[in-house]
Amino acid sequence: MYNDLISFIKNWYKTDEYIPLHEPRFDETDKKYLLDAVDSTFVSSVGKYVDQFERGVSTYLGVKRAVATVNGTAALQVALRLAGVKKGDEVITQPLTFIATANAIAYNRATPIFVDVNRETLGLCPDALDNFLRNNAQERGGKTFNKISGKQISAVVPMHTFGHPCKMSQIKNIAQKWNISVVEDAAESLGSKLSDKHCGTYGELGVLSFNGNKIVTCGGGGAIVTNNDSLADMAKHLTTTAKVAHPWEYVHDEIGYNYRMPNLNAALANAQIGKLDVFLADKRDLANSYKDFFSTREWGEFFNEPSQCRSNYWLNAVITKDRYGRDTLLKATNNAGVMTRPVWQLISDLDMYKNCQKGDLKNARWLQERIVNLPSSARINEQG
Ligand SMILES: *Cc1c(COP(=O)(O)O)cnc(C)c1O
Repeated sequence: MYNDLISFIKNWYKTDEYIPLHEPRFDETDKKYLLDAVDSTFVSSVGKYVDQFERGVSTYLGVKRAVATVNGTAALQVALRLAGVKKGDEVITQPLTFIATANAIAYNRATPIFVDVNRETLGLCPDALDNFLRNNAQERGGKTFNKISGKQISAVVPMHTFGHPCKMSQIKNIAQKWNISVVEDAAESLGSKLSDKHCGTYGELGVLSFNGNKIVTCGGGGAIVTNNDSLADMAKHLTTTAKVAHPWEYVHDEIGYNYRMPNLNAALANAQIGKLDVFLADKRDLANSYKDFFSTREWGEFFNEPSQCRSNYWLNAVITKDRYGRDTLLKATNNAGVMTRPVWQLISDLDMYKNCQKGDLKNARWLQERIVNLPSSARINEQG
């Protein structure tokens, strides 16, 4: 039943060899930048490529500032701290996300609360957020507290699953009403737009990842983006060991982190950012072809970008009929050397987080049993 999908994918990538889910793509430009960083001897925590990369990211996104970090998880941890999340707080997020979203909350000694996603975006559902807050929260002195735990709910973290934008204006309105900060986990959605505005630029702070599996990569890397200069300055300070500028003295004015992006990685990041639009176009081509393919298939429905959105289609997804459909598809494709994967297990089901408070997670559960991710790498462009 799945042979035609397998041939479609092999044909798209013009290969009979193993096809991974998502591979990085490098060419001569990447090598040139990397060699230049090595030759300069500035391979570590400072160098021109870090500054250039931060300017490149902020210009691309149309946001005031970007601060490069060692990875996306570290960026998220620090962004949450800057959003005011402190020990003992609670932070609302979705159960259908990569583990880093919840871990970054826990690193701040805060606890996640899981609220459902919707089926149109695969991301945090504004109605579920609104319901949760109405039923469980109360305002006191301009802050929002959980009526059950007594703890302050200080932030909400929507995540743009596979690059598909969440309903950010509704989420922002609700957060504003309750005086809760919005930190966007845009790790998967670099280049995705909602009403012509980039993902990552809707919240007070947004977070990007440049890990090896993302749309562009520098091996490992991340960024915090914001329109707020003082938050950006604090992000830079905290991620660079909180060192006070001085020509020779070592003075640190708080407990910071060594979360800098090395210049070596930043060199590669600059080369890759230059090709983002090429990758985006190729991924859109592939998504359109998958869409065509699935338009005549009964057994699976291709997941389309939500309305008013332009997704980066980082990872393509098909929604199968049921768990059995999902598992037979996974088996047939992987056995044929075409890598496919189910979506993450719900974070709220994992041992570390299973006792956290949660809303009704029916959409997340429904999707969890049905989503299969399909190969989504950009094709190789030998010319670079
Ligand atoms: C990739 C990813 C991150 C951060 O990843 P790093 O590997 O630390 O760069 C965070 N959240 C989500 C949803 C991700 O997919």
